[in-house]
Amino acid sequence: MTESEFRLLIDAGISSHAHFRNRWESMEEDDSLSVSGERSASILSELGERLNDNYPFFHPRYAGQMIKPPHPIAMAAYMMAMQINPNNHALDGGPATAKLELEVVGQIAKMFGYTDHLGHLTSSGTFANLEALWVARSIHPDKAIAYSPSAHYTHRRMCEVINARSMELDVTDLELLETELKKGSIGTLVVTIGTTGTGSVEPLHRILPLAKKYGVRIHADCAYGGFFTLLAHAPEPIIAPEPFLVLHECDSIVIDPHKHGLQPYGCGCVLFRDATVGKYYRHDSPYTYFTSKELHLGEISLECSRAGASAAALWATLKAFPLRADEGLGPILRKTRHAAVVWSELISSSRILIEYCKPDLDIVIYFPKTPVLSASRISAATERIFTTAMHRSESPLYLAAFAVPSSAMAKYSTDFVADIPVTKVLRSVLMKPEHEHFVTTIFREITAISGSIL
Ligand SMILES: *Cc1c(COP(=O)(O)O)cnc(C)c1O
Repeated sequence: MTESEFRLLIDAGISSHAHFRNRWESMEEDDSLSVSGERSASILSELGERLNDNYPFFHPRYAGQMIKPPHPIAMAAYMMAMQINPNNHALDGGPATAKLELEVVGQIAKMFGYTDHLGHLTSSGTFANLEALWVARSIHPDKAIAYSPSAHYTHRRMCEVINARSMELDVTDLELLETELKKGSIGTLVVTIGTTGTGSVEPLHRILPLAKKYGVRIHADCAYGGFFTLLAHAPEPIIAPEPFLVLHECDSIVIDPHKHGLQPYGCGCVLFRDATVGKYYRHDSPYTYFTSKELHLGEISLECSRAGASAAALWATLKAFPLRADEGLGPILRKTRHAAVVWSELISSSRILIEYCKPDLDIVIYFPKTPVLSASRISAATERIFTTAMHRSESPLYLAAFAVPSSAMAKYSTDFVADIPVTKVLRSVLMKPEHEHFVTTIFREITAISGSIL
C-alpha cells in the first residue's frame, strides 16, 4: 500500500470518528488537555528521531527475529477504533468490539476445525498460554504439565506462576513419552506447532493417539505456526500437513495474530475445545457487569482491560485477508514458506554454510563451516558473521543468533569437537512474503560475508 493510500485510510478513520462524536451534543475540550500544535509537532519530531534507533523490520533485509509491521489495514482499523478506546474486558466496555472479537475468534476456531469452542483474544501468546495452562491445572490439580526442551520458556515459568507440577520431556521421543505417560503422573502435554527457535512442528498426529490411550490432555502452542494450518488444508500442501490436520482434537490451542496474522502487538488468542471450561473462570465482580446478560469476555478471561481496538484491527484484516489457503492469508504464508524451501535448496550445495535442520515452516537455522569444526570456532564465526552483516555501511543484513546444545552438533561431522556446552548458530525468520524473492540475495550476501571471514 502506498503512503497516500494509507493516509486516505487514516483520514477515513478520523472522519468516521467525527461522525460518531457528532451524534452527541458538541463539547469543548478542557483547557487542561490542550497542547499547542507547535509543541506537539516538536515532541513528535523528537520522537521520530528517537525511533530511528530501530532495525528495518519492514524490509526483507531484516531476517532476524519474528518481527514485522502490521498490515496498513490493521493499523488504520486499530487507529479508527482506538479513538473510541473500547475495553474488551466486558460488553459494557465496548459492545461493538466485543462482538467483533467473538466473530474473529470464531473464524480462528473454525480454521482449526473446532466445532464448538470457548475462546478470546489476549494481549499476548504468553498470556494465552498462561490461561490454557491454568485451565489444565484446574482440571488436573495434582498432575504435571509436560513440555519439550524446545517449547517456549513461558511454559516452565507459567507453571511456576500457577504453582502447577511440571516436567521437561521430549514429547517428540514417542518411546520416552509412552514410558512417562504410563506412570500416570502427567495430566497435560504441551505440543508446539512451530517452535520459537527453529519453527519445528512437533508430531502431534503421533502424540495424540498416545495421549488418548492414557487419558492425557493436549495443549497445542501454535503461537507461531498456527496460521500455517491454512496451507495444510490446501490440495497440494507445501508443509507436512499431518500435525495440523488433527489440531481440532487438542483440548486447547494458542495462536498469536501479532506474529503471522499481520497484527500490531497486543494480539494473542486462546481457544478451548470444551466450552464448559468457562466454569473455571467464574467470578463475581460487583462493578464491571451491569447492563448485559450475555456472555462477557471478562468472564472468560484472566486479563481485565484489553484493547477493543485489537479486535477491530484483526476483524478488518481478516475481511481483507480471509483465513483461506487460496486467497487472503494463505498465499502470504505460501511465500514465506517457499522462501525457506528455496533457502534450504541453496544451502544444500553450499561449501561455506551448513543447514542445522530442515525448515518445517519459514525459519532457517544454519552455521558456518569453519576449518576446524568445534563448538567454540563455530560460535565465534557465527558472532562475526552476525555483526559484520549488521554493521556494514552498505546494504546491512539483519540476522539472529541462536544457541543450540553442542551435543546436537555431533551429527554434522565425526570430527566435531564439543569444547563448550552450547554452540551459537545463525537463525533467520523469513516471515515476510517479500522474502520469497529476496532470499537468494540474502543467501549470496551471507555466503560472501562468511567466505571473507572463514
Ligand atoms: C512467541 C511465542 C510465545 C510467546 O508469545 P508472546 O506473544 O511473545 O507473548 C509462546 N509460544 C510460542 C511457540 C511462541 O512462538
